[in-house]
Amino acid sequence: MNIILLGPPGAGKGTQAARLQAQRGMVQLSTGDMLRQAVANGTPVGLQAKAVMEAGELVSDAIVSALIGEHLDAAGDRGAIFDGFPRTRAQAEALDLLLAERGHRLDHVIELNVDEDALVRRIVKRFTCANCGAPYHDEFKRPQVEGVCDVCGSTEFKRRPDDNEQTVRTRMAEYRAKTAPILPYYEERGLVRRVDGMAPVDDVAAAIDAILGA
Ligand SMILES: [Zn+2]
Repeated sequence: MNIILLGPPGAGKGTQAARLQAQRGMVQLSTGDMLRQAVANGTPVGLQAKAVMEAGELVSDAIVSALIGEHLDAAGDRGAIFDGFPRTRAQAEALDLLLAERGHRLDHVIELNVDEDALVRRIVKRFTCANCGAPYHDEFKRPQVEGVCDVCGSTEFKRRPDDNEQTVRTRMAEYRAKTAPILPYYEERGLVRRVDGMAPVDDVAAAIDAILGA
């Protein structure tokens, strides 16, 4: 089983990818991680990538394809979760070829959907106890006594500076721009499955399991 897992920041993609690796033995192939690792290990592909990056240029599709090919060989039949790749239609076609050469194919493109306004509400209204880190939310989970942490009694709270509406909306726009070139390619082939990323984490997991089968 080989899948592409898509989802904007805040949709819980990392959580689900970690679970699929732990429970199904799948291998997450994240382009960024693979490149960093190849460079650190000084593999032939890593040395090529390093030279390109040091010249301030983008790593070519050929290099990324070679890297993914190596990792697919290492993963064998365990199944791959592609993360951060493909980004273009050309890369999507390259991925089809890489899989076909190994007798595999892409089974599903699973997108964790979020409602942008709901995501903004979820993120912008969250805050934590400055002392013990207990999580709170302006709407869903206020301290039982106003201004006092339920857990440790501290009266100091904090909010993350990047938990603001503009940042969330910018991240969503970046995500849409990133996936726009490839979603139609997979939609034409009927591979795209959508899961409600706003649901509780166990429900999201169950929905993904239902797509992947036993
Ligand atoms: Zn506290």
